[in-house]
Amino acid sequence: MTAEEIFIKARERDKYINLSTIYRTLNIFISKDIAIKLNLEKENKSMFQLNMMDHQHHIRCISCNKKIRIDKCPIIGYEYFIEENTNFHIIGHKLELYGYCSKCKDKKTIDIIKNIVSILYIIMDKYHI
Ligand SMILES: [Zn+2]
Ligand SMILES: [Zn+2]
Repeated sequence: MTAEEIFIKARERDKYINLSTIYRTLNIFISKDIAIKLNLEKENKSMFQLNMMDHQHHIRCISCNKKIRIDKCPIIGYEYFIEENTNFHIIGHKLELYGYCSKCKDKKTIDIIKNIVSILYIIMDKYHI
């Protein structure tokens, strides 16, 4: 939503509210991470959207299940673009990255090598190499 759209909505509830109050409130929300501001250079306007409070992303190790929080959301600016293209009203998203943590990654490599070696032994045995 643009600040003007929020202003129109707010006016329906409180007819004495003015646009500068909306801007002031939005700036407080942004400083407290309650809202997010997107600058759309092409259309020369700013959009505001609520930052979902439980909105977090993690990277998870599929071997030991270790989870690390990712501080920044890579999707937020992209949501608006998707909305424009699909005409959906997006209210949230989920994103999880997964792989092997620093400890498991080395172990995984060793496991893969062990597997390859054992397969080679089986082949060598079968074909009497
Ligand atoms: Zn791990
Ligand atoms: Zn996100």
